Amino acid sequence: ALDKEQMQGLRGIREFLKVRTSYDVLPLSFRLVVLDNSLLIRKSLNILIQNGIVSAPLWDSAKSAFAGLLTSTDYINVIQYYCQFPDEIDQVDQFRLSSLRDIERAIGVSPLETVSVHPMRPLYEACRQMLKTRARRIPLVDVDDETGREMVVSVITQYRILKFIAVNNEKHTILLKKSVRETGLGTYTNLATASMNNSVLDVIHLMVKYNISAVPIVDRENKVLNVFEAVDVIPCIRGGAYDELASSVGDALLKRAEDFPGIYTCSEDDRLDAIFETVRKSRVHRLIVVDDNNQLKGIISLSDILKYVLLFGEEEDNIRGG
Ligand code: ADP
Repeated sequence: ALDKEQMQGLRGIREFLKVRTSYDVLPLSFRLVVLDNSLLIRKSLNILIQNGIVSAPLWDSAKSAFAGLLTSTDYINVIQYYCQFPDEIDQVDQFRLSSLRDIERAIGVSPLETVSVHPMRPLYEACRQMLKTRARRIPLVDVDDETGREMVVSVITQYRILKFIAVNNEKHTILLKKSVRETGLGTYTNLATASMNNSVLDVIHLMVKYNISAVPIVDRENKVLNVFEAVDVIPCIRGGAYDELASSVGDALLKRAEDFPGIYTCSEDDRLDAIFETVRKSRVHRLIVVDDNNQLKGIISLSDILKYVLLFGEEEDNIRGG
């Protein structure tokens, strides 16, 4: 019966995602900061920080076209470039946002697939795109009727989508009574962790190696003290101060904005309905799974939740075909 209810809840959410569009997720009024591609990377950091954001669409004004999405991954790439070519710090200082693709090439990372979705397409499609490309945010791109030019309407994130699901699907999420343990939601083996004394650079290397966006910071007994996130890199290199990456995680975490929402933990016995309750009420970007002693057990990312909601119990063919 538990299984049946669980599937009923998941199906309800999937139906919801098929009848709503990406446009529906956007707040009634919002502000979109778009950065010109010719801006110095160094200066882009300050603009993000001043606006309290962690990403922005890029605009190529020569071509009058959308030029991709700037995210913390781009800054991590610049840091990797700096590590591989330490003699070129002067040059790094002069890099513009338009150089980001060259930086990817120089350090040998494959460029992130630049997917965008039309705002009026079903939200379900945006979710599938996200899971397929592992993008955490997708620009909504429309074409202007009069000029025929591309316009970036907004950007939707995994976070916003899950929030939107949680807020509008209470009647479905209350059916999700299986626990984290029973559903196997999250990652529990081969966890990347660091200590307060590790350098920021150590943690960045871990994020690159594991292709993850957060590293739990633990003490000697594996008790969770904090979480270092990819977005925490941004204040660390403010103004192009790459040498500060040698400082400790502990020092870096002090640079967080005052409105930092905090870290969220849960236990393996928590049920999915409770997790959706947390998503509904809080600014949660991942859940750290701990035991009664606050020792680290696992990590549940937003992509883990999204994947479960969209794909659990779907037939194999469906997954490949869709
Ligand atoms: P998201 O895509 O939501 O930003 P992540 O990139 O952090 O999330 O997570 C990608 C995958 O890696 C998820 O399946 C998650 O459970 C797992 N994961 C996240 N953080 C860690 C970590 N520190 N160690 C090992 N696996 C992790």
